[in-house]
Amino acid sequence: MKDKGGEAPLKPYVFIAKPIPPEVEQMIGEHCRYDIWKEDTISKEELYEKMKDAEGLLTSGTAIDSDLLDHAPKLKVVSNNSVGYDNFNIEEMKRRGVVGTHTPYTLDDTVADLAFSLILSSARRVAELDRFVRAGKWGTVEEESLFGMDVHHQTLGIIGMGRIGEQAAKRAKFGFDMDVLYYNRSRKPDAEKELGVTYADLDTLLKTSDFVLLITPLTDETYHMIGEREFKMMKDTAFFVNISRGKTVDEKALIRALQEGWIKGAGLDVFEKEPIGEDNPLLQLENVTLLPHIGSATAKIRLNMFKQAAQNMIDAVYGKTPKNLTKEFQ
Ligand code: NAP
Repeated sequence: MKDKGGEAPLKPYVFIAKPIPPEVEQMIGEHCRYDIWKEDTISKEELYEKMKDAEGLLTSGTAIDSDLLDHAPKLKVVSNNSVGYDNFNIEEMKRRGVVGTHTPYTLDDTVADLAFSLILSSARRVAELDRFVRAGKWGTVEEESLFGMDVHHQTLGIIGMGRIGEQAAKRAKFGFDMDVLYYNRSRKPDAEKELGVTYADLDTLLKTSDFVLLITPLTDETYHMIGEREFKMMKDTAFFVNISRGKTVDEKALIRALQEGWIKGAGLDVFEKEPIGEDNPLLQLENVTLLPHIGSATAKIRLNMFKQAAQNMIDAVYGKTPKNLTKEFQ
């Protein structure tokens, strides 16, 4: 791989650590000298080599730790092509004057749609019954054995009433006539007024919801925030949906909850280890819908996110305040 646009030495040099759409590459090229990694994953050694002169890094998920920062003496900005930024070591970045940006708002509706795909798939057994039809089993069992559970007019408990949580609440309330409870670090009076959602403490939400949707960021506080105690508190008829990050849930406890009937089923977009290990017991369970971390993955929204991430990086390397600094850098 070689530098592009090398004839304009005054342009800042940035590294793009993943494949991006050609029009976004062109957008970056108009403002920056750049190098791009077009394969799936980049090794640490290769990444460190690329970071030697980089003032900006566009990535998602790369661990921005002291080791990487030691290899990036000119770095000004890490632009994440995602809204989550649990890959940032905020303290180390601050100490070295590197800012972090992300892509909020653009993906809220799309991720909320996916939350509902998982809610509906879990309750009406969509993925499971698709496998049933493909296996030629249609007509071989009593119809009652295919029955699912209603979603409409049930209670949804949302843990994390942020940007995406609010969009999920809107769908639940106005699309499915659901009662919506929420638990959040801070109360959201505007959401309560505008969306008709009701605040509950975590235990009350877990005990009373028919569906529990987890959509907090992954932080030290939220690591394994849902585990054995929490699953045992849920109704045995309830469904659990995780679209946040895999590590917000104790996956071993979730597997037991699904195997032993503490809860009825689950829908998961995220896992403690991604891609999921071949030996993960979740792969053997019928009462769980599994997706490969595709919350924001529509062509339109991913393109918008890339453009947003590119603009954030360009602004920062030119000394402007990027629009989407994460809250720690504002
Ligand atoms: P957001 O607007 O920042 O909302 C997060 C909410 O979680 C905030 O309301 C926050 O409360 C709350 N929260 C944080 N820590 C908490 C805690 N310890 N206990 C209770 N509530 C807590 O973020 P967002 O844009 O909705 O995104 C949320 C997360 O979803 C991202 O960080 C990312 O990890 C994940 N995500 C996943 C996908 C996917 O592909 N599956 C796609 C997009 C996002 P405060 O208001 O008090 O801060």
